[in-house]
Amino acid sequence: MPRIIVQKYGGTSVGTTDKIKNVAKRIKTYHDRGDHVVVVVSAMGHTTDELIELADKLNSNPPRREMDMLLSTGEQVSVSLLAIALDSIGVPARSFTGSQVKMMTDGNFSNAKIEMIDRTRIDEALGENKVAIVAGFQGIDKEGNITTLGRGGSDTSAVAIAATLGANECEIYTDVDGVFTADPNKVNGAKMHERITYDEMLELASLGAGVLHSRSVELAKNYDVVIHVRSSFKDIPGTLVVSEEKLMEHIRVSGVTIKNEEARVTIPDVPDKPGIAAELFGALAKADVIVDVIVQSSPSNGKNTISFTISRKSVKEALPLLEKFVEANKTGKIELNEKIAIISAVGVGMKSHVGVAAQMFKALADNNINIEMITTSEIKISCVIPEAQGKSALKAIHDEFI
Ligand code: ADP
Ligand code: ASP
Ligand code: MG
Repeated sequence: MPRIIVQKYGGTSVGTTDKIKNVAKRIKTYHDRGDHVVVVVSAMGHTTDELIELADKLNSNPPRREMDMLLSTGEQVSVSLLAIALDSIGVPARSFTGSQVKMMTDGNFSNAKIEMIDRTRIDEALGENKVAIVAGFQGIDKEGNITTLGRGGSDTSAVAIAATLGANECEIYTDVDGVFTADPNKVNGAKMHERITYDEMLELASLGAGVLHSRSVELAKNYDVVIHVRSSFKDIPGTLVVSEEKLMEHIRVSGVTIKNEEARVTIPDVPDKPGIAAELFGALAKADVIVDVIVQSSPSNGKNTISFTISRKSVKEALPLLEKFVEANKTGKIELNEKIAIISAVGVGMKSHVGVAAQMFKALADNNINIEMITTSEIKISCVIPEAQGKSALKAIHDEFI
């Protein structure tokens, strides 16, 4: 039985025709070896951003269905170009859109979840010894509308295909050598991991390490797909994302991340009664506003203060809902701070090492950085800090632990 290899190439890896040629050459070496290769590609370079800018010039609040229709075109260009490049070096290939491989999703435009993939057409192509090239980031809902999976979603397309085909490894080719202890483009001295656990990677990805789409890691964990993050420009192994059992030892902190573009909302004088938090956060959830850090003060005089963070992008959507809540519950005035960042340290080893939090707070204090909110889980510590100090906080914490 030939091995099934799923490879995903990100935007920078297919940013120019020369880079597409290189990708085609790499695929050829696998195909020549007899592997069954399924390739998932992103849109070329900054295409997705450029398409968003175009729409923005026409409408500051474009219909979400039409945005997905628009954005899906980027990936359609790159899959066909890659198939054309492969043909030119004698590798038979067939490209597919999300709808052609029945990448079925829910109907949540711009953030759709994959529900099922029909492998028939991919199998047909592989059976004919062709490379199957699938457009990442896109799917189709029950009504036949084109959907997209959220920014960076091609990683998730690739892992979902790997899970469907039972491939035991999914290679994610990108513009860095692997997963580092911090964004190597922001922190000098960041070190590459040979291996990292799903849980750590999941935290890192959701806390701002853009190297993998967090849902791809979730899927990989659930379906036992090993993710291999590696460079599309070099021929060296990168980072394996694996289950905890496959790791020999745990370091305390395996990564430090920063999430910019965040906003903090504070609502004082919220009546202390059952159901009030459910009312507030239920309304936000219904509008698809993702809430991150939540802090509630202990009640005094029957009131408390609720503070939470949301992405700056969703402020516009959230404000009317919050005002409704304020009015209905006669709370204090909403305070909004759009100049914050969330800095986090992640590590499975935190479970068995004490004092990590204290050490992180001290590193921030020594650099005169005020902590505005704190939240922890078993394997991460996050602090809300002033955005202006984000860069120095990232460096301070990275220097402290790594
Ligand atoms: P692609 O287009 O290949 O999907 P992305 O831009 O989505 O590439 O992801 C790769 C980028 O992720 C890198 O260029 C790097 O700046 C960023 N990054 C952020 N955090 C990390 C990290 N911890 N390790 C590696 N890369 C990171
Ligand atoms: N092209 C999409 C984006 O830029 C999907 C991806 O690159 O994974 O977000
Ligand atoms: Mg990406």
